[in-house]
Parts: sequence; C-alpha cells; structure tokens
Amino acid sequence: LSPNAPAQGLSKVGAVLVVGGGVGGVQAALDLAESGLKVHLVDDSSSIGGVMAQLDKTFPTNDCSMCILSPKLVECGRHLNIEILTYSKIEKVLGEAGSFEVHVKQMPRYIDVAKCTGCGECAKYCPADAIDLYNEGLSERASIHVKYPQAVPLAYVIDREVCIGCGLCQNVCLADAVHYDDKEKEITLNVGAIILAPGLEEFEAASKSEYGYGRYSNVVTSIEFERILSASGPFRGRVQRPSDGEIPRKIAFIQCVGSRDVTCGNGYCSSVCCMYATKEAVIAKEHQKEVEPTIFYIDMRSYGKDFDRYIERAEEEYGVRFVRCRVSSVREDPETKQLRIRYESEGGKLVEEEFDLVVLSVGFVSSKSIRELAQRIGVELDEYGFCKTPTFHPFETSRPGIFVCGMFSSPKDIPETVTQASGAAACAGGLLSSARATLVKSKEYPGELSVQGEPPRIGVFICHCGINIGGVVDVPSVVEYARTLPRVVHAEANLYTCSSDTQKAIKERIKEHSLNRVIVASCSPRTHEPLFQETIREAGLNRY
Ligand code: SF4
Ligand code: SF4
Repeated sequence: LSPNAPAQGLSKVGAVLVVGGGVGGVQAALDLAESGLKVHLVDDSSSIGGVMAQLDKTFPTNDCSMCILSPKLVECGRHLNIEILTYSKIEKVLGEAGSFEVHVKQMPRYIDVAKCTGCGECAKYCPADAIDLYNEGLSERASIHVKYPQAVPLAYVIDREVCIGCGLCQNVCLADAVHYDDKEKEITLNVGAIILAPGLEEFEAASKSEYGYGRYSNVVTSIEFERILSASGPFRGRVQRPSDGEIPRKIAFIQCVGSRDVTCGNGYCSSVCCMYATKEAVIAKEHQKEVEPTIFYIDMRSYGKDFDRYIERAEEEYGVRFVRCRVSSVREDPETKQLRIRYESEGGKLVEEEFDLVVLSVGFVSSKSIRELAQRIGVELDEYGFCKTPTFHPFETSRPGIFVCGMFSSPKDIPETVTQASGAAACAGGLLSSARATLVKSKEYPGELSVQGEPPRIGVFICHCGINIGGVVDVPSVVEYARTLPRVVHAEANLYTCSSDTQKAIKERIKEHSLNRVIVASCSPRTHEPLFQETIREAGLNRY
C-alpha cells in the first residue's frame, strides 16, 4: 500500500496546491486542471516560468526554450481552473491528505494584476534603474518592469527597493493599475493534495575562489552565458565577453563547479551540466563561427535518450574539444583580462592554457529558503537538502498527501522534470479521484460564427520570435508580400506570436477585420497549433 493512502471516511477537497511555477509546476497544474481538479499555482516570483524561461535553447534538440514553454504558460494563464498566485509564499500547512488548510502570504506588487494590460507605458517613463536579475545582472531595467516579454501573468511589478516614489508611472497608467499603498495579503486555501515543485538554486560560484568568479570579469556562470547566448538577452544573442564586448575566440567550460565536490559539501552529480555545457558550446559556435570551445570535464554524463549522439555531433560537426581533467585554477592577466587555466593532462603533465572567456558549469543546490520552505510544509529532506522520497514511490514525500516533482527531489533535466510532474499529478489525482469535478467551472465559448458561403477573409500573423526567426527571415517583407495575396485582408508581424498579449491581439483583429481564416507563421504546429486554435475559438471561429 502506498503510504499516501487517504484516511478512511475523510471528505476530500477537489483542489490541489502546486508550489513552484517552473516547467514542472506548470505541467502538473495543467494535467490536474484538465482532469477536473481546481489548481492553485503558487510562485514566489512575479511571474511563472522558472529557470526554463531564462534558457536560450534546450538539449538534445536545440529547440528554443521559450518556444516550448510559452504555449504552456499561456494555457496555464487562461485556464479557468488554475488560479495563479505570484509573489506568494507558503507559510504553513495544516490538516492531512485529502483536506489541507494552507496559509499563503502574498507580497505587495504595487500593481493590480487584474487591471494592468502589460502595455509597458510606465516603464518608458520610470527614471529609477535596477539590475535586471532575469538577465543575471548583465543589464539594467526600470524599477517598474515585467520579468520578460512573454511573462504570465503579463502584469508589471514595482521593485520598491529602487523605486523613488516619483509618481510618474501612476500618472501615465491609463488603466489605473498602479497602487503605491498595496499591502501584504494573507490567503487561506483548502486543498486535498499538494505538489512541491520549487526547484533548486544555482551553486554560488564565488565560493570556489580558485576560479575567480566575481573577481575576473571574463569568468561567467553557465546561466549568465545562457543569457549572453539568448536572442532576448543583454547582447541580443551576440557572443561577447563582458570586459570589452569583443567576441571571445577561445572559450573554456569548467565542469562540476559545486558538484561532485566534497570540499563544498556537494558529493552529488548535478546531472545536467555536461549536457547544457555541450549545448552552450554548440550554440556559441552557431552564433559565432570563430568560437573555439573546450570543455574540461571529469567524465561525460550524457545518459539520456540521444544525449551521447549529441556529444558526438558536438565533437565531430562543431569541433568542440573535450579534455578530461579537473581544472585546478584560473588566473587573470590584469592588463588584457585574458584567463590562464591550469590543469593536469591525462598523461599527468601540468598544462597552462590561455582563454578569452571562462564559463563555470555550476551545479544545483538546496538553498536556505528551500530548506525553510520544507520545514514550514513539514516534509523531510535528505543529507543534501533534497526532498526525501521512498525508493519505490518517487513522487511521495514524508508527509502523506504531499507529492514532489522536478529538481527538488534531486537535480534533473527538463524532460525528466516534465515526466515527473505528470507522475506527481497522477498521484494527486488518484488520491482525489472521488472529489473530481466538484470545484471546477467549465469554459463557455461564444457561439460559433457561421462562415458558410462567405468568401475567405484571411488574417496572417508572422512571428519574429526575437531573432530566432527574425534573424534569418526578413519578416517585414513577408508581411508586405502576404498583404498582396488574394483574400488576405490583414497581415502583421509579432515579436512573439505565442505570448499572451498577442492572443488578445489576434482576437481583436478577428473582430476588427471580420476575419474568418487565420494563418500563423511561427513555430511547429506540433507544439503551437492547439494554442492558436484555442485563441480563435475564443473569438467565435471554428478552431480548424
Ligand atoms: Fe501599462 Fe499601467 Fe500596466 Fe504599466 S501598470 S504596463 S502603464 S497598464
Ligand atoms: Fe519608477 Fe518608482 Fe517612479 Fe514608478 S514611482 S516611475 S516605479 S521610480
């Protein structure tokens, strides 16, 4: 019997709390909501998406990370049975499997999410700058900001630490969404089960002082490099070094920084760094042909489906150099900012080699805040601060009715996190099967417009996808050309066609131009078609 078997005769609540709005939490929320359970999705950030929203590409397919994630975020954001609580923290959890009472504290955001249209007018006038943490501190943003353009909810937030209270944003906001007197709120939720998906945090690279992170400007972490590579990042995808903006020719990736290292208390493998470093090396090479990446590794842990083939391709097709060793130190030339790496070769020789940029492949750790969260919720952690699970029940925590998925139970990649999320959702769904469909609403669509016998009135939406498409396709010319085609009555370009504001725009255009056919030119229909079909259905068109 599973230790999570519900107590006899207990009346169960047909709702689930999901803690953490990364890809795991979002997947679990969607599975549960689709199966007839009400979901409360709680995240401590200003929008959902987690770390995946910061990644440029995903391995082993090199798909654009945001293109995979964004449709799920939009679906989550507009699902009638998913309530998203951002800027919120779990305070305590009372009750037992089948019926929990959860106390949540919501921090003030100073913007009314329901009123904010995400127009961005306020940020144009805000004179107070802050470090942009979404870009890992590599750029600045205004005090009033949205985390990234495809954020869900697409509502701004004021960073009160740098806000000077000048009142400009309040004056320009036509939606009356800015409220400086916003207060902390206490919310109580009743749920039958809980899924924990808070993720882990990056290892603090500066604590491995031999690599010079924080002292040498051209030593960056892998997540910073991810932002450097990203089309939506601080350098719009141009691979450049922070010290002088030059394109680095020789880039070194140092593996296992904060992983498999008992000197910092982390004896475990972080499981994804070998693959993400190889991916970053390949993408850097795709962005700038002159780049010569070298990966310094202990051993290559490419154990997933097609992962080893990916490593072989990196070596054979992209010329990525793999060196098996443990790098002992990095030193900077204070004049040129070049970096000298010292390591012992496989033959036992001490080697020194010069590089233009060093990327530290940081591992993942359970932070103080994650440990405190576990304590408040009442689940046990293992020696490393990962959520303890019984060997044959990988989704179950020490507290019945509370399940876990993703990094929180041990470091893992995106596909495994998503698979686990569905597993945890199935466990929670099983526990609450008798309470299914008790708290949910069903979506009502407008009556379908009859277009029988009408000539086609076609609307064309062409996606830039930042520079993912815009960098290789002349999008404005495609728009112009589309306008000349028979029966096309409207054509436009969108920065990100799958973002939630564009869904709104598509519905408005359908009304404005009486469109009865919609063409979207963007990512593969395999991943995106259902999203756009749902959008036009909401505007009264047949989804096909
Ligand atoms: Fe626009 Fe007002 Fe929201 Fe700023 S706060 S994005 S001005 S609606
Ligand atoms: Fe920016 Fe604060 Fe001024 Fe608003 S009040 S514009 S957030 S500095």
